[in-house]
Amino acid sequence: MTNNQIPKTQKAAIVAVEGASVQVKDHPVRDPESLGPGECLVKLHCSGVCHTDLHAALGDWPVKPKTPLIGGHEGVGEIVAIGKNTTNSPVKMGQRVGIKWIADSCLNCVQCRNGHEQNCINVKLSGYTVDGTFQQYVVSWVNAVTPIPDGIESEAAASILCAVSSYPLPPTAPLTNVTTKGLTVYRALKYSETNPHEWVVIPGAGGGLGHLAVQYAKYMGRRVIAIDGGEEKRKLCLSLGADHWIDFTQCKDIVGEIKKVTDGYGAHAAVVTTASTSGYVQAVDYLRDNGHLMAVGLPAKATLDASIFFTVFKSITIHGSYVGNRQDAIEAIDIAASGAVKCHYQMKKLSDIQSVYDDLGKGKIAGRIVLSV
Ligand SMILES: [Zn+2]
Ligand SMILES: [Zn+2]
Repeated sequence: MTNNQIPKTQKAAIVAVEGASVQVKDHPVRDPESLGPGECLVKLHCSGVCHTDLHAALGDWPVKPKTPLIGGHEGVGEIVAIGKNTTNSPVKMGQRVGIKWIADSCLNCVQCRNGHEQNCINVKLSGYTVDGTFQQYVVSWVNAVTPIPDGIESEAAASILCAVSSYPLPPTAPLTNVTTKGLTVYRALKYSETNPHEWVVIPGAGGGLGHLAVQYAKYMGRRVIAIDGGEEKRKLCLSLGADHWIDFTQCKDIVGEIKKVTDGYGAHAAVVTTASTSGYVQAVDYLRDNGHLMAVGLPAKATLDASIFFTVFKSITIHGSYVGNRQDAIEAIDIAASGAVKCHYQMKKLSDIQSVYDDLGKGKIAGRIVLSV
């Protein structure tokens, strides 16, 4: 695609002010001639939608989004322009790339220099502090896009890139109804200080994208205790290789059951995505001494309410794990492209976005939604 084949206008889903409904309308495409060094223009194939986008549209997180806002942070497309005077670009024209939650990082601050790009003090967040992937042409940065290998569909890759977990749960909610996403889940497992053959508990393993956590954990050689409710979820978790299944709707003593399966010691780690405090309290109980509680949910308000006594007495590590750096994203995508991680998703159109938001808000969507753009 040459610059004069790039249209001047496109369709974009725009939220005018916090809390407003999202409207799909004509919006200018960034003039490729105006791209600065390091910037690129990506013609999107598709974009995933998740609860983060709802939080962005509602503006209910402690960190405020820009307005007007084009949301979306799980896009896959191809590079159609690269800013003039860009040097040493790791990606080239026509290459398929992904746009993730961390849209760009400065690579020069202390956090970036230590490889914690997600905590960059100058970070740009897709569909939050910069316009995201609910449009046909998005501006991105050559150093931040994730190259997408052959062997994975754009739609599946989009779901892997999704980063943030933020399902709004009532405080009494059990260990289910959580969403977890590929990159976040992969990094949480990577830093869980577990070894092959060790036990990882995944609450909500069959719901939302908990199924990704099960698959990554199995790929990494961990033994998985999957917790969720109902026959359908049981079948899914076991088909993905979960070593042990617990139905929270039937099991009266989840902690006791986990202890039993793990020779009385408890699990080595848990990847907890729930927004309810009960998920954390319970994890401290079922983890073994020196176990790791990987906290990856981003609820707007919930607080962590685990027993300090037992956290200390059992030498439990509570590890907040926020998305991942560029390398984590590449690894998460490469593993999926190898065929080891399959993603279940449902396709919709960009023009369906408001109804998708409505359904997400009502908790009516269990799996992943990907919009063709
Ligand atoms: Zn930085
Ligand atoms: Zn997402």
